[in-house]
Amino acid sequence: MTIKKDCYTYNFNYSIHNFDEFMHKYVKEKDSFAICLLNISNLGLCNYILEYKYGNVLLHNVINRVRYYINQKAYIYKFGGDVLLLIIPNIKCRDNAVKIIKRIMSINDDVFLLAGKKIRIEIKLGVSLYPYDNAELHDVFKYAGIALNCANKKYESAYEFFNTGMYENNAMEQKIQTDIQDALINHEFILYYQPQVNVDSGKVYGVEALIRWNHPEFGILTPSYFIDGIERNGMIREAGRIVFYMACLEIKKLHSLGYHDLIMSVNLSIKQLEDDFFITFIKNILKITQVETKYINFEITERTVINSTEKVTSALKSIKDMGIKIFVDDFGTQYSFLNYLYSVPIDGIKIDRSFVNGIDKSEKKFTIVRHLINLAKDLNLEVVAEGMETEQQLKCLEKVNCSNVQGFLFGKPLNPNDLINFMKTSKFNKQSNSIFSESKK
Ligand code: C2E
Ligand code: MG
Ligand code: MG
Repeated sequence: MTIKKDCYTYNFNYSIHNFDEFMHKYVKEKDSFAICLLNISNLGLCNYILEYKYGNVLLHNVINRVRYYINQKAYIYKFGGDVLLLIIPNIKCRDNAVKIIKRIMSINDDVFLLAGKKIRIEIKLGVSLYPYDNAELHDVFKYAGIALNCANKKYESAYEFFNTGMYENNAMEQKIQTDIQDALINHEFILYYQPQVNVDSGKVYGVEALIRWNHPEFGILTPSYFIDGIERNGMIREAGRIVFYMACLEIKKLHSLGYHDLIMSVNLSIKQLEDDFFITFIKNILKITQVETKYINFEITERTVINSTEKVTSALKSIKDMGIKIFVDDFGTQYSFLNYLYSVPIDGIKIDRSFVNGIDKSEKKFTIVRHLINLAKDLNLEVVAEGMETEQQLKCLEKVNCSNVQGFLFGKPLNPNDLINFMKTSKFNKQSNSIFSESKK
């Protein structure tokens, strides 16, 4: 591996003062360059696999590999725990930068061998260009952060170049962070419900409660705008209680309207499961609303399950003992941690949308899903596939005998009134006009 000699690495903590000093020393006003912030998004997970002590060695290896891919004069800062700041001079336009950025992104395909373990890292990159994006150095630096913030929201490894639309979104994000404090007091959290369909019967067998924030200025916001924020600040505990209460009232109403066997799925956060009063709260609400436990499913993300402590596992056991089923949401996204399948009490899995998306076009995805479903069935676990958008995807899932499905093909998340209209009029509640293949009718 040859690395251009003039690719320097600096290793000091960030402060505006340091940054100013650095820029003035090395970058001349007339220069044009790219500022990139590189986030190793799974560094925490890698440290966990490597038992922390190899974390710095891994980071060192990553820096070396980045230098190799840049392969021209550049400065690399270690910038906080899992972020590197790259300054690549002589970048006149976006096309120049794209070539180098794409090379850096190929680090995602590299395997790092450490402590006898094979590690893959996942990086996200935010890029801004000086003076192309702004003549003020500090603004360009801030823009790289905004671009990284956008890249971080992407599902897989990604890079983003700054654009002005991002700046407006960023302003919105900051307003959201301030306004969220009042959302609970102002009763702004509401629930939408997405139908879940059984393809064998052709009927809606359940609905998933999905939180929405009815923001006074921006209207209905999906969880991507706020769920991480309320997870971090702990508000999710209180919001989760409201969600469960509203979901119980709704399922009671649906049962009273004649949809007797309908099941309500509710998403839980790890913070709720760690709450000492959670189980008592659930029991109280079920008693007040007179909902039987067999009509409630809880969904916890695969990430929650792999991080579950004894306390969380014990809460899950109490839930299961009550007769509520537990599903692992986003199943398959943390596939290397399958050992939880025997150590954590669960009843089913929800195959992640990323597998369903494109299942009809990729032989490999189809094979993976077939095996995931067989694995789950062999373990006596129920299976739901989520994110079904097309009839071709549905046909593939029918081929692998996946009967319970959820996705925009059947219905998007709906407000309570629209849900009732959907239940009254939906073709999925009738055998006629069904889109399911003849053999399934
Ligand atoms: P999830 O539990 O995996 O929910 C499914 C998400 O996928 C929903 O997004 C739904 O709108 C979306 N989806 C379903 N079918 C399709 C499809 O065919 N195509 C596409 N493109 N998307 C589809 P939503 O409502 O934005 O929720 C996102 C996530 O937020 C949820 O993912 C869940 O992890 C979390 N969440 C939602 N409500 C709650 C809650 O009350 N508590 C907690 N802790 N988390 C929640
Ligand atoms: Mg879910
Ligand atoms: Mg999911």
